Formats: sequence, structure tokens, C-alpha cells
Amino acid sequence: MAEISTKSGAKLLPEQTTVEQKPPIPQLDLSRQFDQLRPQILGALEQVCSSQQFIQGQAVKAFEASAAIFLTGTKELIHAIGCASGTDAIWLALQASGIGPGDEVLTTPFSFIASTTAILRCGATPVFADIDPATFNLSPDTARAALIKSPNKIKAILPVHLFGQCADWDSFTKLKSEFGIVLVEDAAQSFGSTWNNVSAGMLGDAAAFSFYPTKNLGAFGDAGLVTSTSEAIAARVRVLGNHGMKRRYYHDEVGANSRLDSLQAAVLDIKLQYLAEWNAARRRIAAHYDQLLKSAGLVSELGITLPHTDPRATHIFHQYVVRAPRRNALREHLTAQRIGTEIYYPLPIHLQQSMKPLGYTAGSLPESERTAAEVLALPIFPELRKDEQERVVEAIRNFYR
Ligand SMILES: *Cc1c(COP(=O)(O)O)cnc(C)c1O
Repeated sequence: MAEISTKSGAKLLPEQTTVEQKPPIPQLDLSRQFDQLRPQILGALEQVCSSQQFIQGQAVKAFEASAAIFLTGTKELIHAIGCASGTDAIWLALQASGIGPGDEVLTTPFSFIASTTAILRCGATPVFADIDPATFNLSPDTARAALIKSPNKIKAILPVHLFGQCADWDSFTKLKSEFGIVLVEDAAQSFGSTWNNVSAGMLGDAAAFSFYPTKNLGAFGDAGLVTSTSEAIAARVRVLGNHGMKRRYYHDEVGANSRLDSLQAAVLDIKLQYLAEWNAARRRIAAHYDQLLKSAGLVSELGITLPHTDPRATHIFHQYVVRAPRRNALREHLTAQRIGTEIYYPLPIHLQQSMKPLGYTAGSLPESERTAAEVLALPIFPELRKDEQERVVEAIRNFYR
């Protein structure tokens, strides 16, 4: 909250004592969704409790099958393997695709840190290329330049489908055939988004999803999923995520404990039934923001940049992210109006303290750095109401007036 007390004490300013306080608009409100699904979800949890099958039980199998059907229309086209988190899913997808020590993996610096730490966990070295400022996703042009510079060391590219929009997969597919690289999708924010009508999760050699509670498909704790069209990669993911064990207590390689919990699978299987509807609601909300921001003159006159959707992509708006002049002051203004916003992400990965050993310096990836200073995520979740959106845009308008 912004300061509302005077320097001398806790007194409110006079005009604020008279203004009726409007209810807060959170950036994300998960309780509205739970309120609708409460009996169904509690029933499913009770079933798991009655079965006492908490690890790799029926609920996990059922959800893996539902996820494959959701993504492809049939469960024969893709393998879906539950795991403990989105972070683990990226690691499993990379390692099962053959990434290891000595390899370089090209990725975006404008993402959540886990995209990069998963590469390090394979023993590989992350290499960053800059983003496309229009979509916020890894730019295939800068990726190509990096591949030309280091053609034998870069073994894979890990694009992130950021905010719910797939990276330019036509171009990455070209790079794959030209340079013989592996493509792994970080689809943590994009369950249900498509590129040329093909689902995220089906595009690369393997893909990783996160069901962290705030994601567009969220569990009641940590959970993740790896998908792959390759039988061999899928089989390796299953082994790696279960202690490198094919036969009980015989461990052919070093794996980890990364399994999807039955309680989480039961929650996810119910929520998945509503996901198409929720993703459609997110798209409607995004279109309404576009229209409200434009008609308030915020786009043409006041310099707000709306999110750009590539015509080949179905953007599911996990986040609705604008670029805003004087972003930090705008955010403070909105916070004072009790309107929740978020900054994804305030510091690009290559400039994080923990990534210093990689040797990148400020100015090396200028689009990512500029973007980190300009972006603001507005409230978005399927149950957000039109009147709430109108209040958000009015508050933005008042800031720039
Ligand atoms: C959330 C997220 C992850 C990590 O997922 P967890 O389930 O939190 O481990 C990885 N990459 C991106 C882009 C994410 O948004």
C-alpha cells in the first residue's frame, strides 16, 4: 500500500477519510474459482483419501490421460507424465532429451528463473539471446545469430511460451532442421495455448508444464507435467522422475524423486474440465482491456503498449501485460487504489546475482532489460468482472491525466 499517513502521525488525509473505500481488485483471486468447485473438489480429495493411494495411483493415471486428450483430442498422440513441479518438468524434459554436461542450451533471459536453473541442473550451460519486444518471447533472429556464433556447442533451445502465448514455432522449427538442435518448450504458463492450431506441449521434442497454484491450470500445491510425442523420451522421463528405477530397487541411472501426487492429480482432473472455458474467459477479458485502454486514449495518446498476439498463436492470457510509461509510479498509484498488479519480471535472468558466473553484464541483452523496466501485469483471472476491469482502466486513466 502507498503511504496514506502524514509524517507526524497516523492520521488519514482529509479527502481520504471522506471517500468511500471501494473493494480491492486483486491481481489474482483464486477463491472465486474454489467457491464454484468446492463440493466437486472436496469429493475427489475424499476419494483419494479413501483409496489411500497417494503416490502413482489411479488419480494420476486418470489425469495424465485427461491431459493428453485435452492437448490432442486423443491419448494416443502424446505421452503425458506427471511430476512434482514445473521446474522439475523442465529438467526432466531436457535431461530425457539428452542434454547433459558440456552442452549449451539457448534460452530467454526474460522468464521465471526456473527456465535457466533447469538447464544448470542437467550440467549444461545456459546461453541467452534477446527477446522479440512485440511478444516478449525469445526472438528466433537473435537465436539464429547465437547458433551461428556457437554452432557445435548449442545442443538445444528452450523457448518459453511467456504469459500464455507460444513462441514463434515456425522459425524455431526451421532452426531445428538447419542446425540439428533439440527443441524443448517451457509451457509452464500456457496449458491450452496453440501455434497454428497445434497445442503447446505438442510442438517440441518435449515440453514442460507447471501447475503451481497461480498458473492458468493450478493445483493445490506444487505439481508439473512433461509431454512428448517421443516414446523414448517419455519412457526416460518416467524413469528419471522415479529414482532412475525401471525395475523395483534396481537403479540404472541417477534420477530424482519427482512424481505427481494423487491428491494434486485429483484436483487437476476436475479443474481441467473447465480449462477451455476459463481460457476463453481470459481471452475475452484481454479483448475487453484492449478496447477499454484504447477508448480511454491510453494507447495512442498516453503511451501504453498493449500486448501483441501473433496471428498464428492462440494467446490464453495467463497474464495480461502492458508496457507503461513511469511504470513504478503507476503501480504505486494503483496499489493505493487497492488494485493489484505484478511485475513479471523486474530483473532479467542474466543480471541475477546467482547468474553472475555466466558472465553477462548490463546492456548485453537490451530488449529484455528495457522490457523489465516497462512491463506491468494487470488483474486477470476468469472470474474477473467487467466493472472491475473498468475500474482498473479508470484508475490508470486518472494516473496519466
Ligand atoms: C512457474 C514457472 C516455472 C516453474 O514452475 P514451478 O511449478 O513453480 O516449479 C517455470 N517456468 C516458467 C516460465 C514459469 O512461469
